[in-house]
Amino acid sequence: MNSLRFAATLRVLGWMALYLALSAPAIILAGPDSSNSFVIRKARVFDGQKVIQQADVWVENGTIKSVGTGLNVPSGTKVIDAAGDTLLPGLIDAHTHAWGDALKEAEIFGVTTELDMFTAVKFMQETKKDQAAGKDLDQADLRSAGTCATAPGGHGTEYGIPVPTLTSPAEAQAWVDARVAEGSDYIKIIVEDGSAYGGHMPTLSMETVKALIDAAHKRGKLTVVHIGTQQEARDVIAAGADGLAHLFSDSAPAPDFGKFAAAHHVFIVPTLDVLESASGVASGESLTTDARLAPYLTGDDIANLKKSFPKSPTALSEKYAEQTVAQLKAAHVRVLAGTDAPNPGTSHGSSIHRELELLVRSGLTPQEALAAATSAPAAAFRLGDRGTIAPGKRADLLLVKGDPTQDITAARDIVSVWKLGVEDDRATYRASIEKTKQEAAKAAQSAQASGPEISLISDFDDGTSNATFGTGWALSTDSIAGGKSTGDMKVVDGGANGDKHALDVSGVIDGGLPYAWAGVMWAPGSQPFIPVNLSSKKNISFFAKGDGQTYRVLVFTTSGGRIPAQQTFTAGAEWKKSSIPFSAFNGTDGHDISAILLVGGPAAGKFDFQIDEVKLE
Ligand SMILES: [Zn+2]
Repeated sequence: MNSLRFAATLRVLGWMALYLALSAPAIILAGPDSSNSFVIRKARVFDGQKVIQQADVWVENGTIKSVGTGLNVPSGTKVIDAAGDTLLPGLIDAHTHAWGDALKEAEIFGVTTELDMFTAVKFMQETKKDQAAGKDLDQADLRSAGTCATAPGGHGTEYGIPVPTLTSPAEAQAWVDARVAEGSDYIKIIVEDGSAYGGHMPTLSMETVKALIDAAHKRGKLTVVHIGTQQEARDVIAAGADGLAHLFSDSAPAPDFGKFAAAHHVFIVPTLDVLESASGVASGESLTTDARLAPYLTGDDIANLKKSFPKSPTALSEKYAEQTVAQLKAAHVRVLAGTDAPNPGTSHGSSIHRELELLVRSGLTPQEALAAATSAPAAAFRLGDRGTIAPGKRADLLLVKGDPTQDITAARDIVSVWKLGVEDDRATYRASIEKTKQEAAKAAQSAQASGPEISLISDFDDGTSNATFGTGWALSTDSIAGGKSTGDMKVVDGGANGDKHALDVSGVIDGGLPYAWAGVMWAPGSQPFIPVNLSSKKNISFFAKGDGQTYRVLVFTTSGGRIPAQQTFTAGAEWKKSSIPFSAFNGTDGHDISAILLVGGPAAGKFDFQIDEVKLE
């Protein structure tokens, strides 16, 4: 997506690392039933293309053995009675950015393959190694572009994550070959001048894009191209792109767009959900109240699904993309379901169900939408072992109640998900999420009394960095998220208002990371990221002095998910009091504050500030 999105994604990556490293233990799944042979009887079967009103599907050792009625299977074979239910191929999400728990979450919602469109090369390599070793059966299968092709200073480079850029057609083959060597399954190319979002950024020339496409084809790799505008879409299709990673939402489609795309045999992943979020509407919000999905959504998922991008100054409209999808259908262009999770308004797995709904709203039949998430992406990405229910295919399967070929939302009513014939342990996952939510609610309640009547957090006058409640102050740096910033913290003489001591915080911010930080953290609960209700107070206040630089106060709340809200303060030569209302932190009332950080960064360089008399008022 555009730079804004990209920045948000990378920030999530950084803060998530802090959050996951310090929050309650991650979800641990019980070992799933490892038997991978069974027969499903009397299901309605959507085989990826068509509906068989009633059939048996026999799975042996993780592979579909046969499909038919009244199948004879060896005695002792486990029988699953699926009368009234619908069996589908496991879903394929054709546009995600995977890291952390993404693939585990995806599978819970029936997505058994994620086609990643830019992630850390290391994550891609390690995940694929595990997959090849037969591990990760409780996680969606990963196919990935690895890193992406972009211009120097273009989309993706401005955040310091090392992205190998290129400037001329002459560099294209070497660039592509380096990706092939790293293990990229296909080549992702960014064409984005920012104009669709009212900005401007350098982008690859169309000659370079064409050279990249040719170079990839020379190595037998598909190319998937990110575009922002309708003009960019036409240009890259003309240059020979195999697929578009988004549709445009800057303008209504020209009357011939569908025919033009069809003539070039391009496939298109509209990502309607994220285009809706880009037009300022949180596309995933309705998922959070759908009883078929909500019990499986983490607090972070829910917070992110309720978000949208800030409204763009240009007239973006997801409706333009819906009109284009209708054209593509009429022209028989291959349309694939992709979510662009975890951008604002999305989450891994659950969002495929919103995307299916939006594809139907655009004019696809439910059956066509289901094909867009099964057989169509398998064909487009040449994954011959999946996407359909037929003998010899992987037993990546999704069993749901009701009939999603009539009502697309029935695909949310999941009975079971299998990867290679091994059933995902959704019950344990659900119980674990329920427990975490209950603990958070309990902690918020029980801690109500402990914090609020005390207003002083720390004055450091006992010569330590302890606090009157919650955790003491501790150093926090981006090293937890792969950064190289360093920090130091010590109690020093000479506090604010002539008192004895203050806390000195210093360090060096390593340049580049969009989320670089180093500083100190305090949490109101017994450990970081346990929410505490501080809503009887209205402000956080503290005295600060220092080297004259601007610093940040970061506030984590449970409802705000994994990205902290921030405000800044300046630490000058003299002690100065800052008093910041809770409401300045994304409008929180303080009822579920889980951590507060005072940090330097993201600008590179040395920093040094002191704090004293930290209070809630
Ligand atoms: Zn994306």
